[in-house]
Amino acid sequence: MPSVTPSNLYDYLQCPHKVWRDVHGPREEFVEADNPFLKLLWERGVQHEADVVAGFGFDLFDCSSGSEAERIEATNEALARREPYIYQGILAHGDLFGIPDILHFDGAEYLPIEIKSGSAEVGATEDAAGKPKKHYAVQLALYCEILRRRGLHSSLKGFVIDSSGERFEYDLAAPQGPKTPETWFELYERVRQEVVSLMSGEVQNDPAMCGSCKDCGWGTSCKKWVEESDDLTQLFYVGRSVRDAIKRDLGSASVDDLLRQDPAGLAARKKADKNFLKGVGAPAIEKMALRARLLKDGGEPLMHSRFEFPDAAAELFFDIESDPTQDFVYLHGFWIRDGAGERFENRTARAVTPDDEKRAWQEALDLINAYDPDTSAIYYYSPYEKTSYRRLRKKYPDVIGEAELDELFGRATCIDLYDIVYRNTDWPLGSYGIKAIAQYLKFEWRDKTPSGALSIQWFNDFINNGDEAVLQRVLEYNEDDCKATMVVKDYLKRRMDAM
Ligand code: SF4
Repeated sequence: MPSVTPSNLYDYLQCPHKVWRDVHGPREEFVEADNPFLKLLWERGVQHEADVVAGFGFDLFDCSSGSEAERIEATNEALARREPYIYQGILAHGDLFGIPDILHFDGAEYLPIEIKSGSAEVGATEDAAGKPKKHYAVQLALYCEILRRRGLHSSLKGFVIDSSGERFEYDLAAPQGPKTPETWFELYERVRQEVVSLMSGEVQNDPAMCGSCKDCGWGTSCKKWVEESDDLTQLFYVGRSVRDAIKRDLGSASVDDLLRQDPAGLAARKKADKNFLKGVGAPAIEKMALRARLLKDGGEPLMHSRFEFPDAAAELFFDIESDPTQDFVYLHGFWIRDGAGERFENRTARAVTPDDEKRAWQEALDLINAYDPDTSAIYYYSPYEKTSYRRLRKKYPDVIGEAELDELFGRATCIDLYDIVYRNTDWPLGSYGIKAIAQYLKFEWRDKTPSGALSIQWFNDFINNGDEAVLQRVLEYNEDDCKATMVVKDYLKRRMDAM
């Protein structure tokens, strides 16, 4: 069996099936993923690591070159000498293997330090620190375990140097949170055991359609499996844990078998036995049955309750593009429909600088504010625009006040269409994203494989080579996103007006 590495642990946290499939799946069905965004992310990570290492301030004993065997030997010798800082050493012990970015001897033990181009924590706010990221924690824990087995570590502590260049301590002996007493190290031990069972073939699990599938080399292969087995994860909002609970308690996870069940009967059984379909609420069972019927029968989308769209002389269909690898919003696009007709407006950064990001944002807000809120409406799809504007406000607080921004997104005429789709409607689709819904409504993007990842790649190409034709592709993609938002709004309004 192959060794357990940080990448196996990461895969498990993203999709437990990937761990099994990478070892036991039909290799001929694997397609090397060619995702420009992941490539960009990787390149940024490499650059960030090089920058951190260049400015580290202490001498690093470099174990980054040579064959694997040579690097393991060099690392072992450096550990035996108690080198204070070892760079890219290889730790291999029994069935565990890893390459920590830096190992630091603090006089008593070795501590692993990882250099990451993302932020070290999740959920941090202005007033409170965030929590460790699971995949960083299990990676550090793996290094701690190897060092511990070799008598070189005891505290279960590690560090992450993140995109800000700051060093964050990860206390792996601490509980994951007030409601999760399992410590980070215990989480690692649990995940490692599952990974070993899956890689050895002792346990097999099933694929489940999820957000990670589109970037996964097994995407087509797993989709085929899910369709052929009529798996419940084809349904919108049904993920692995719900599917597994249904399979465990009802003996089948097929859409057809679910349709043969009586949702009221299942709800009654749940009431009598709290362990029955644990984690799946009675309303969720009903929703699932309804979506299953719709997916199978392929009927018209269902409008469950009416939403009163405002009468507006001007409508702004709004969509932003951003590069999360640099925390940079580069484009604010608007498809505008008013008395003068329809047109596309954009406010776009032309350099990746705080000045240009701020300028583009200020200009976008000026455009929005040029419309009277009493006679205009703004439509966007998903909370991303709102959260991005809040993040921009934190970066550039002099552009707009917090209350003013809250007032803008709190207006009855500033509408997140996804919220309406999610709450008030159901569709014969496995995804309720803008691409799936607008394409279902026969809207076609000019680009045949539209994706935010490509837009990010094109924008970075434009920044690097100044080619206006490439920027034009970015603008066209965004314009089509904005128009798609209008198509969805018009459909919803037409259907809801008929209710
Ligand atoms: S395609 Fe999806 S289900 Fe299959 S291994 Fe990849 S992430 Fe998991």
